[in-house]
Amino acid sequence: MRWTKTHLFTLKEAPSDAEIVSHQLLVRGGFIKKVAPGIYTYGNLALRAIRKFEAIVREELDRRGCTEILMPMVQPRELWEETGRWSKMGDGLLKFQNRNGHWHCLGATHEEAVTDYVRSDVKSYRDLPKTIYQIQIKYRDEIRPRFGLMRGREFIMKDAYSFDLDAESALKTYQLMYEAYQAIFDRLGLIYRIVQADAGPIGGSQTHEFQLLAEAGEDALLVSDSSDFAANVEICPAIDAEPQRAGGATPVGATPVGAFSVGGEGATGLSPDENLQPLSPFATPGLKTIADLAKATGLPERELVKTLFFSANEGLDPKDKSLQPIAVLLRGSDEVNLVKLKNLLQLANPPRMLTEEEVRQTAGAGPGSCGPVGLKIPIYMDTGVQGLKNYIVGANQEGFHLRHVNHERDYKPTQIVDLRVAREGDRDPQGPGRLRACRGIEVGHVFYLGTTYSQKMNACYLDREGKARPLEMGCYGIGVSRTVQAAIEQSHDQDGIIWPVALAPFEVHLCALDMGDPGVKSLTEKLEQELEARGVGVLVDDRDERPGVKFKDADLLGFPVRLNIGRKGLEAGVIEVIVRRGRQVRKVKPDEVIPVTEKLLRDLKQSETRSETRRGGGRETL
Ligand code: ATP
Ligand code: MG
Repeated sequence: MRWTKTHLFTLKEAPSDAEIVSHQLLVRGGFIKKVAPGIYTYGNLALRAIRKFEAIVREELDRRGCTEILMPMVQPRELWEETGRWSKMGDGLLKFQNRNGHWHCLGATHEEAVTDYVRSDVKSYRDLPKTIYQIQIKYRDEIRPRFGLMRGREFIMKDAYSFDLDAESALKTYQLMYEAYQAIFDRLGLIYRIVQADAGPIGGSQTHEFQLLAEAGEDALLVSDSSDFAANVEICPAIDAEPQRAGGATPVGATPVGAFSVGGEGATGLSPDENLQPLSPFATPGLKTIADLAKATGLPERELVKTLFFSANEGLDPKDKSLQPIAVLLRGSDEVNLVKLKNLLQLANPPRMLTEEEVRQTAGAGPGSCGPVGLKIPIYMDTGVQGLKNYIVGANQEGFHLRHVNHERDYKPTQIVDLRVAREGDRDPQGPGRLRACRGIEVGHVFYLGTTYSQKMNACYLDREGKARPLEMGCYGIGVSRTVQAAIEQSHDQDGIIWPVALAPFEVHLCALDMGDPGVKSLTEKLEQELEARGVGVLVDDRDERPGVKFKDADLLGFPVRLNIGRKGLEAGVIEVIVRRGRQVRKVKPDEVIPVTEKLLRDLKQSETRSETRRGGGRETL
């Protein structure tokens, strides 16, 4: 492919809305161009990388017996009403009417469409199992599209759906797809981790996310330093690494500062019951935050208890405007995990925090002066609070707190449950190790669905006894366009992209430095033809530009191997062969260029997919 024939224009500067390096490089390299927020035209280079990735996906899925189809992007309302998702999906689903006034939406995902596709055909157990997939443009009206292809409104997804006889065989299919995803991401030469993820409140669900590790990733992950355990922080169990001290909130020998002497009352060494001190209120004018209280009492934040209020019926029924408040108790140093709370309360979305006014109505005092004693609403206590004794909470009276508060004696928690955000240093839930924090980009997601959709859409088969049973389903997504950008986020340097061979739009960048010179011209043509005949993609920079401009662009576009062909080099009988990763330069005789290039590409590919560079290989950071 000749540069002058293709439509390729590089930019010196990235646009101001490109916040992360991969987005900047994609725009600067002319790979993508914004049409509207979250909507892009893919230039030829981006499309080539996408097509290469799609070919890998197809190969691994077809090899495992999956069948490719293509479903419509425009879908009628009626299908989505069957599962209740027409309203449940919220504003993410873009809805519109056609000329006859019929409501439609743009496909954000295709569970309804695919279930409808199979339900009229699958009659008997003999027709199962089946896994169907498509690679297609999705539309989600994301609130905040950003980071280029990472969070687009229009994006390319591979979505697969499996249909099985029963849970056992559905979980086998899940495992097969999990392995297919490993094979797919192993081939990219990138570092990724498979993490446990939020399955929502549906019991028995199983789900894993495939996360490419990158600092700019939107997802916070926790991975064990000593076992295979890795989880999205959204669902990661939180287990304190430090054993809790007997005596809890009463620090031994601590000298409290400020006006509130609450510590130093000799707490340890006593049996738990003897240890309980009498409850007493004390004035805390102007102290609203845990930090204020910690400063004033001299107690560490982790030994204070905070009370937060949420709405427990939020979004369950749009017509229900009543307030069903609940309280959540946590150590002062901990953060509430809204996904854990969402799942505990069986909500579709994370619950809303009560407004200041609603807190006053509920507790009798504003946020900062509230606590569990005397509350008439459900109280969910984080397990981290369980071991504390004689602690301080708000008194539900403006400007007052209570000290020497003890659960069971002074109030009864409705449930003691893990509700805090896990963090680095917590205990590995599956072993003796500790958790380390890292960030990831979710590029794939496997999900065992059970019969949630098939029951609602009446998608059944007849079993051996002739009894109708709902299809057991799973769904499996890969963000195709997101993965291509994520690869750049993980593999670049200050000058540009470093494509792994598996995704590189072209494998070879041929800089023809003096196209006016007959020797350069004929050798360029010869190498281009011979490499392409061997299946190696070549971009020939045949522009009338200075070498410096061409080299800069070659670094920016980042193809694995560059060939510099110039008059001077040819006079000396050499061509420069440069590997983009590491920029090692070799001087090679013209008739050895092809075997040398092919070997370099083979070696690069091999080193990119070496097992220790894959699946994190025990590394949490790059
Ligand atoms: P996210 O949590 O990032 O919003 P999701 O969990 O809603 O994603 P899924 O429904 O699991 O996404 O979709 C399957 C895959 O599609 C994701 O793993 C991700 O790689 C990709 N994807 C989802 N939303 C977007 C988007 N807005 N832009 C690009 N890719 C996306
Ligand atoms: Mg997901």
